[in-house]
Amino acid sequence: MSVDLHIHSTMSDGTLSPSELVELARKKGLSCIAITDHDTVAGYAEAKAKGDEVGLDVISGVELSVTYSGGQLHLLGYLIDCDNITLLEGLRTLHSARDKRNGEILEKLKEYDIDIKENDLRRVSTSGETGRPHIAKLLIQKGVVSSMDQAFDTYLGREGCAYVERFVFDLEYGIDLIHKAGGIAVIAHPVSLLKDELQAGQLLEQFKRIGLDGIEVYYPTHSRKMKKQLIGLAKKYGLVITGGSDYHGSIRKGTTLAGGKGVSVPEDVVDSMRQLREQKTDLKSI
Ligand code: AMP
Ligand code: ZN
Ligand code: FE
Ligand code: FE
Repeated sequence: MSVDLHIHSTMSDGTLSPSELVELARKKGLSCIAITDHDTVAGYAEAKAKGDEVGLDVISGVELSVTYSGGQLHLLGYLIDCDNITLLEGLRTLHSARDKRNGEILEKLKEYDIDIKENDLRRVSTSGETGRPHIAKLLIQKGVVSSMDQAFDTYLGREGCAYVERFVFDLEYGIDLIHKAGGIAVIAHPVSLLKDELQAGQLLEQFKRIGLDGIEVYYPTHSRKMKKQLIGLAKKYGLVITGGSDYHGSIRKGTTLAGGKGVSVPEDVVDSMRQLREQKTDLKSI
């Protein structure tokens, strides 16, 4: 049986609601899932309630973009207390930064005679955190571009003409925020870190020193060789291993929940995470 610890819902840029994801995961025979929406934990309560109803283990999660010495990476937080005030304050800061950035992107698009109203954007993103994929969806609907890739390449990506940087925390702050909420901090899809194994080792050593707990090993684009390398690095630096599909629903074509041919994640990774969390809690109470 597989688990899936990297999933996006309508609370950020996924297209299925937390309840729908739980039902789908149950149907696929997964034993545990974590919804890891960008910058929000708003989907957890609904997913957990649905999980209790249908008999699926649901653990809390979040995905933060953070800066580090080599650029940006994605940081996953697991087993966090979703009511933690410090965490919620941090997420509110990120939310404001997103709002500001989205408005600036729409302004830039106007320079290219593309008129997208804030209301259109809110309609597409529903109640969740709004991001570039939602703007991309509107660009497709308006016939400005024909694919998500084209929307990012031409307008929204780092090289795109309507690109606007948004404020994000640095890695150390992100790890700290997750720890303050009692969680486990994990580097998501670390493919780019693996370009050079020596550099990857040096980075992980440095990250471990600032409190990193784990790395995502099982991921659809990680080859068998990469997974082997990552497992070796996790052992060497005393990091837990996690994995998931990064499923976004229909907004990102070609991805499905774990358990199929895309990616399969062994159940015992959840036990290891829970054990680590308990050890850390015990240490704190000494
Ligand atoms: P944002 O959170 O607004 O900065 O948008 C980043 C999100 O856009 C990422 O988390 C991805 O889910 C998505 N994304 C980035 N590049 C692409 C792309 N080329 N095609 C589709 N989605 C993308
Ligand atoms: Zn996303
Ligand atoms: Fe990511
Ligand atoms: Fe993701």
